[in-house]
Amino acid sequence: MKVTLIGGYWVNVVGIMYSEDLITYDFGEGHPFRGKRFSDFLITFQQLGLDELPQLKIIQSRPCSFEDLLLVHNEEYLEIIKQGEKRYESLSLDTPLRPGMLEAAMNVVGASLNALRYVIEGNAPFAVGMGGGMHHAFPNSGGGFCIVNDVAICAEYLRKKQGSKRILILDTDAHYGDGTAKIFYETPEVLFISIHQNPATLYPGTGYIREVGRGEGEGYNVNIPMPVYGNDPSYDLVYSEIVVPLVEEFKPEIIIRNGGSDPHFSDKLTDLGVSLNGLRRMGAIHREIIQSSGSHGISLIGSGYNPIVLPYGWTSIILGLADINFPLEEPIQPPSCINDKAILAQTKKVLEEVKDTHSAYWSF
Ligand SMILES: [Zn+2]
Repeated sequence: MKVTLIGGYWVNVVGIMYSEDLITYDFGEGHPFRGKRFSDFLITFQQLGLDELPQLKIIQSRPCSFEDLLLVHNEEYLEIIKQGEKRYESLSLDTPLRPGMLEAAMNVVGASLNALRYVIEGNAPFAVGMGGGMHHAFPNSGGGFCIVNDVAICAEYLRKKQGSKRILILDTDAHYGDGTAKIFYETPEVLFISIHQNPATLYPGTGYIREVGRGEGEGYNVNIPMPVYGNDPSYDLVYSEIVVPLVEEFKPEIIIRNGGSDPHFSDKLTDLGVSLNGLRRMGAIHREIIQSSGSHGISLIGSGYNPIVLPYGWTSIILGLADINFPLEEPIQPPSCINDKAILAQTKKVLEEVKDTHSAYWSF
């Protein structure tokens, strides 16, 4: 593990994998997922002067290989994408194809895998893959703006190439990571913890508490459906009541966190109540559980559907992970729900149900 001496202190350096080619991951005019998000983030990050901090290091990422995709996806599916691109077909209602989309997705997967290899090689305890978190893609289908699943590819890379047996995926995206969950639903080698908006109120409509895994994987799929307007105190409770105890018991070798700024209260596609500070806590809790378990981890950041807030939201997560105290102001005035105690009470009820359901598998 490499650390750097800054101002008399040894600090962890966070590698941030980025490529200008990420902007090609773009679903076109009028779609909520445009490629400009990546350049917008970098511009803001640089304007804030954060690229000059020695604790944060932007590193040029390279696209993944076709073989990397085959860790999760089958060849027939990848051929369907290639043919679909030529005819401008859609994988699903919200995921249109256009020429070059698979190549664009390979830049996203590349950034995630570059981050993974960076930490495996011992360059740093944490790294960030910009663009990652394509958790709605299944081995042979896509949707929810996801063509291929970089989160699952990283976990399969660890299992198949590194022999990892205890991988934790902490999915903090506002939407349930249905693709990732399904891929690892029957294995105890991947503990999937997902904190997402109640699926009765949001895409993809799955991710209920009772979905606990199957066969040997029973108990290794932990869903925490947050109430609408789930706010910072609610998330803090999830970390202390569920995430930290599970980490202590599971003892992960590595922790993959995915999710961008879509839990923010201003997001246009979701209805959660997380502030910039709450996003910063998401980064911080990732760092804390990595440190407490003596593992390492990667943070995959790509979602967010309020373009004004997105660069600040992504930056907040990175600052939390890197443990950098840098003030960021909310670009949009927060609504009253971010301090609503009734939301916290609803969250407590959800957590009681999560604990009841999972007490068969874990010693809560
Ligand atoms: Zn999302």
